[in-house]
Amino acid sequence: MTFKHYINGRWETGVTIGVSENPSDLADVVGEFARADAAQTETAIRAAADARDSWAHSTPQRRFEVLDAIGTEILARKDELGRLLSREEGKTLPEGVGEAARAGQIFKFFAGEALRIPGERLASVRPGIDVDVTREPVGVVGLIAPWNFPLAIPAWKIAPALAYGNSVVFKPAELVPGCGWALAEIISRSGLPAGVFNLVMGSGRMVGQTLVDSPLVDAISFTGSVGVGESILKGAAERRAKVQLEMGGKNPLVVCNDADLERAVDCAVQGAYFSTGQRCTASSRLIVEAGIHDRFVRRLRERTEALVTDHALKRGTEIGPVVSQAQLEQDLAYVEIGRSEGAEWLCGGERLKRDTEGHYMSPALFLAQPEHRIAREEIFGPVACVIRADSYEHALALANDTPFGLCAGICTTSLAQATHFKRHAQVGMVMVNLPTAGVDFHVPFGGRKGSSYGPREQGRYAAEFYTTVKTAYTHAGLA
Ligand code: NAD
Repeated sequence: MTFKHYINGRWETGVTIGVSENPSDLADVVGEFARADAAQTETAIRAAADARDSWAHSTPQRRFEVLDAIGTEILARKDELGRLLSREEGKTLPEGVGEAARAGQIFKFFAGEALRIPGERLASVRPGIDVDVTREPVGVVGLIAPWNFPLAIPAWKIAPALAYGNSVVFKPAELVPGCGWALAEIISRSGLPAGVFNLVMGSGRMVGQTLVDSPLVDAISFTGSVGVGESILKGAAERRAKVQLEMGGKNPLVVCNDADLERAVDCAVQGAYFSTGQRCTASSRLIVEAGIHDRFVRRLRERTEALVTDHALKRGTEIGPVVSQAQLEQDLAYVEIGRSEGAEWLCGGERLKRDTEGHYMSPALFLAQPEHRIAREEIFGPVACVIRADSYEHALALANDTPFGLCAGICTTSLAQATHFKRHAQVGMVMVNLPTAGVDFHVPFGGRKGSSYGPREQGRYAAEFYTTVKTAYTHAGLA
């Protein structure tokens, strides 16, 4: 069986077929999936455009019911969906199930938001006139997702898009069509009118680019790499489409002399290596004050060497495989770059053999200088480096010395230092005595500088992107 696109309320065969494989066991095929060309993508866009008015004028109650039903089903099936996620993407089963649950919670949250679409009423500066400020849907939105959160990221784009009355063309990443398809299958049974939600699978160059270029697509929400994000920004700006980009990170975790050592090491291990380091919020730069540096490094190395890397579905696995051969090669290449530019290798960074053939690699730890490439460029794998800082002020300067600005963490027992860091870290999200990765679903997500562009995702702030504001003046004298 080949899994099909969902276009205009029907399941459609693709122009070609792609295979999704399990990175823990390359002999295990997750499925065969339809792939679209530009013409098929345009059909889906047209369907969304034709459906936009009916959904834009649907009642909040109707939107609530649809989104609530989707959330309820995802939560009821979180174990099965989490298993699929772990099988297809390679994060461990508890992480997969946790992500599936989060996707369900996101739909539930936006079900409620559909009932609370904000507006304002003000008196005019002129006599006898009232002013209403209301939010209306943007129209057709193209949603382009990465592979690393194959349920949660689509959920945090699709749910607000539908809650605020938009119609959707969703393109999952090529490595994880199974998760995108499973989500679409649930959405297809939620009672949406045909064409309001469409799933189109295939390549970024073909499906993604067609979405970016189509004059019928009013807004593009993209999460992925910096290079692709920049090209999308140019394409969208050229035809004045609304655009939102969430891109890379090189997130610092600052460890101060007064930090609780075990907590700091725990934050570093979780932030750097869990989900195989394949998180835009991963802490790949561990900036450690001189007074605690040697103790921290000794303990972190012990913990890193003890991490269990194995099949994502195996009980006891702490680190699953890398998602693909190409990503594995990139991770291993960065380990070589680290060594060749003089960073001190402490452990890991080796290809591992397990019972099944998969993309296994041991988590790597280096002592690096701030100018080293492994300390500056996003690797997106289980590779972290420790950078020594002379003082808190030096650590803060190092933390901010990056083109990225997604997330930053600090481990300290000083309220004054934590407060100072929260105010001065040049990022969209700050963590105190917590790993840099791991966020709530009901508050804004996003960064600054090279990490993000446009309004924040998630929480009530999602309304900024998925709605457009209308100001209406009424002369009360006519009433
Ligand atoms: P990617 O940029 O390669 O692909 C992301 C999506 O864009 C995929 O669906 C892909 O098919 C599509 N795409 C590729 N070329 C395109 C084009 N020319 N036009 C339109 N769409 C195109 O990223 P990836 O490898 O899937 O994900 C990893 C990256 O995502 C990392 O850099 C990571 O930091 C980033 N990421 C960021 C966040 C965040 O919120 N900041 C979250 C997760 C991942």
